[in-house]
Amino acid sequence: MSHCPYCALQCAMTLTPAAPGTTTPVTIGPRQFPTNLGGLCQKGWTSATVLNTPDRITTPLLRGPDGDLHPATWDEALTVITTRIEAIWSAHGRDAVAVFGGGGLTNEKAYALGKFARTVLRTPNIDYNGRFCMASAAAGANRSLGADRGLPFPLADLAGAGAVMLLGSNLAETMPPSVQHLAGVRERGGLVVVDPRRSTTAALTGAGPGTGEGGVHLQPVPGTDLVVLLALTHVVLTEGLADQAYLADRTTGAADVQRSVAAWWPERAEGVCGVPAAQLREVARLLAAAAPAHGGPGAYILTGRGVEQSRQGTATVTAAINLALALGLPGRLGSGYGAITGQGNGQGGREHGQKSDQLPGYRKIDDPAARAHVARVWGVEEATIPGPGKPAVQLLTSLGTPGGPRALFVHGSNVLVSAPNTDRVADRLAALDLLVVCDFVPSETALLADVVLPVTQWAEEEGTMTSLEGRVIRRRRAVDAPGQARSELWILAELARRLGSDVHFETDPAVVFDELAAASAGGIADYAGLSHARLDADEVDGGPGLFWPVPGPDHPGTPRLFLDAFPTPDGRARMIAVDHVGPSDDVRPDAPIYLVTGRVLQHYQSGAQTHRVPDLERISGEPFVELHPILGFRLGIADGDRVRLTSARGTVQAPARWTDRIRPDTVFMPFHWSGAGSVNRITTDATDPISHMPEFKVCAVSVTPMVPV
Ligand code: SF4
Repeated sequence: MSHCPYCALQCAMTLTPAAPGTTTPVTIGPRQFPTNLGGLCQKGWTSATVLNTPDRITTPLLRGPDGDLHPATWDEALTVITTRIEAIWSAHGRDAVAVFGGGGLTNEKAYALGKFARTVLRTPNIDYNGRFCMASAAAGANRSLGADRGLPFPLADLAGAGAVMLLGSNLAETMPPSVQHLAGVRERGGLVVVDPRRSTTAALTGAGPGTGEGGVHLQPVPGTDLVVLLALTHVVLTEGLADQAYLADRTTGAADVQRSVAAWWPERAEGVCGVPAAQLREVARLLAAAAPAHGGPGAYILTGRGVEQSRQGTATVTAAINLALALGLPGRLGSGYGAITGQGNGQGGREHGQKSDQLPGYRKIDDPAARAHVARVWGVEEATIPGPGKPAVQLLTSLGTPGGPRALFVHGSNVLVSAPNTDRVADRLAALDLLVVCDFVPSETALLADVVLPVTQWAEEEGTMTSLEGRVIRRRRAVDAPGQARSELWILAELARRLGSDVHFETDPAVVFDELAAASAGGIADYAGLSHARLDADEVDGGPGLFWPVPGPDHPGTPRLFLDAFPTPDGRARMIAVDHVGPSDDVRPDAPIYLVTGRVLQHYQSGAQTHRVPDLERISGEPFVELHPILGFRLGIADGDRVRLTSARGTVQAPARWTDRIRPDTVFMPFHWSGAGSVNRITTDATDPISHMPEFKVCAVSVTPMVPV
């Protein structure tokens, strides 16, 4: 029994090897579990295919004098790495080596990677691809609620709600089994989806409230989700819909927020976001009617990457939380605010120390008490732990620059497809003296490396993941890894030894987990009461994993946070006034169309895994540009024509797909591909000033037909 290797829903599955203890194929089966209720999506059903993909990397690879990658022994590869790292240290100092991690790594690997960077490399320069994924949700929840656990309640709680508002999340394509939890709210007409596209999820809103089916789809101008939230909060506060007793007892800052939204009456908001004022009032009243203060069954406000990947992402999450607090939802049974985590271990990946400003247990790296605690667990002097490093975009753009890192380790990430403005990232990677990539397939980033180290995949390893609900679950080995593939835990331990570190690195995932649990003790994400053995026993007893915090071995876990108080100094949630600024790269005469990016059902992230599944490629084998027929007529672009999108960063091209499910001022392109159709070549790397998350979700482009030659 294990869980899917892809998204944070972490659907449970059975893995049946054709012959136990070998590298032969495994058969996938669905398994009952509270998040997926027995369902799997196309990605999950076909996930075993990648284990035996023909281009699986099975030996270390070294770039030779001819410029090509060639098979090498582990000793040769690790010797090259250590020799060159030591030379870079001598010439440029410790900060000249950087690490880039991933939100798909197990908790154990994420923990070991953070420890390796701070104790062996002694560099502050570590960050990870979760900066592209959850950073704004994390920053917003931490400052308003005192803790960031994507969903601070079990996903199954949504089933009883009277209203669920999803902002910028296309659950029906990214994690289809989760839609089962929305069946009840759809029957009650209470599903609200905010998205510039009538996505598969937005289409679930169906006929609308009062019809006994679906709910409401708000289709704002890209980059104006914050205005929608300000207007909804305005209506709640001015129409007497707020939960005044809750505001008085459980929050601070309500008066500031009331003042800040005063000027966002719905008619003014309509002029900016394009959502009709009447619809804004309708949704505010629908949410309020479902809230406990008005005798409703409960309401939830949930954000996703569509509103978070913005230079005002933290402000938008803050505004969503303000609205939820005004309605009295967070910390109430059957109601709440949450963020839909995307990557498989997007939650655990941000808790154990691979983030530039954090130590294990979701502790701040500049907190003296946190540093002292973690230093004791690691057996190092506190003063040797570096301070905060550069967040992901700043780290990538500093590579190979004067004073910037000269070497980079990449683990579980394919930045040449998944980072914004990827042509600039390619230039920076090419300027390095040493690029080391740990991967199991020749991803675009691995193909640029000086050294590639082959690693085990999900079904070949033991470990733990933490789902989008903060549920800690076991990943189990079903088959052996092929060839010479090794776990990152072994690689980090071996590099630590060869680089002369006296800091101990365990390679047994269960023992690494015990150390992680000790390091997290007393932190926000407290795993102190967990172990592989306890998680295994919980499953045998029919339990579905435990929710952090779990501060002791007898603690039952915490499915719902904030019920008694918020983890802030005064126990209250903070309402924080925010205002709309707009996109960094807004439309203008030479780039008059909004570009939004997103996902398709068949592919996961950069597609490094799912492009290697023939069944998925047959359905979704190439990128495309969605545009409205009105825009097509205006620009002379027919359905199926190749089009060119040009932003201030460059140009990409793909076939056009006409659809009336998108605004006529907007085009959509999925981001799973490399090459000429790799949309992140033209997305902006402007970042949110608080979360440092890039503004993937909106930029300005021109759209032109390509003349056939
Ligand atoms: Fe479930 Fe997500 Fe895997 Fe699909 S990709 S099977 S939704 S965990």
